[in-house]
Amino acid sequence: MRKALLFSIEGKRSMSKRLAFVYLLLSVLFFCCSTGQEKPEIRWVTMEDIVSSLENQQPMRVGFDVDDTTLFSSPGYYYGQQKYSPGSNNYLEMEEFWNEMNNGLDEFSLPKECARRLIEFHKNRGDAIYFITARWKTETETVTELLAKIFNLDDINDVIFTNLKSKAILANNIQIFYGDSDGDIRAAIEAGIRGVRIMRAGNSTHRPYPEYGSLGEEVLVGSGF
Ligand SMILES: [Mg+2]
Repeated sequence: MRKALLFSIEGKRSMSKRLAFVYLLLSVLFFCCSTGQEKPEIRWVTMEDIVSSLENQQPMRVGFDVDDTTLFSSPGYYYGQQKYSPGSNNYLEMEEFWNEMNNGLDEFSLPKECARRLIEFHKNRGDAIYFITARWKTETETVTELLAKIFNLDDINDVIFTNLKSKAILANNIQIFYGDSDGDIRAAIEAGIRGVRIMRAGNSTHRPYPEYGSLGEEVLVGSGF
């Protein structure tokens, strides 16, 4: 009798363990499925999509961020970090670094192919091109000259150095802004214009990587290089 009672208690215990396990499994499955559904789908666009979206549209003003959008400039940043603050990002707060970066280190920056294609397309459309960067403003800079040379831009507008990109977008009546950072896309949203995300190269020193498409923006396919 006592044995039977013990067996029945054991049975109930193992049954509750099994139920608890099934419950846990179902919760995990539910969590995975529901978070999967909540993630918005990325709005991928190709170069062709951008071209056809602007068909029959009047020439306009378009803007580009510089680092990781127009130029793969990680070599200059890597050099600056080694020289001024190995292992930390303190170099980004040093005027000496920005003086070097804005006055020659872009000789080691590689133009991004996606930027080359986009700039060529906008140039042929007769659009005015602006470059807006959050780099520190320095007394002198050679970035404008370098961009003009790399992308064959005669009459280039001086690169705009500012932390307030949305203001610069509005002040210059820019209608499309291309950028890699959340800050770029937010600036476009704030200014009420079209923001297109450019992806960072896989070996960019700018980490962490943003979550492409997380702000509901268009993301250019293949823009990692
Ligand atoms: Mg950038």
